Amino acid sequence: MSTVPVCPVCDAEVHLQGTTIVSELVVCDSCSCMLEVRSLDPLQLAEAPQEQEDWGE
Ligand SMILES: [Zn+2]
Repeated sequence: MSTVPVCPVCDAEVHLQGTTIVSELVVCDSCSCMLEVRSLDPLQLAEAPQEQEDWGE
C-alpha cells in the first residue's frame, strides 16, 4: 500500500518524482502552490512559507 501525498491546499494528489528528501520543495500540479516535504514516512506535505519579495531599500 503506497501513500500518495495530497496537497494541503487543494487536496489533489501530488506526484513526486525521483528521490524525495525532507524539506524539498515541490509544486502542486493542480493549484500551483509551493509545497514543502515535511516528512517521508509517512509522506507529508505542507504549504511552503511564501517568501516575500522585498524590493525596498
Ligand atoms: Zn494543490
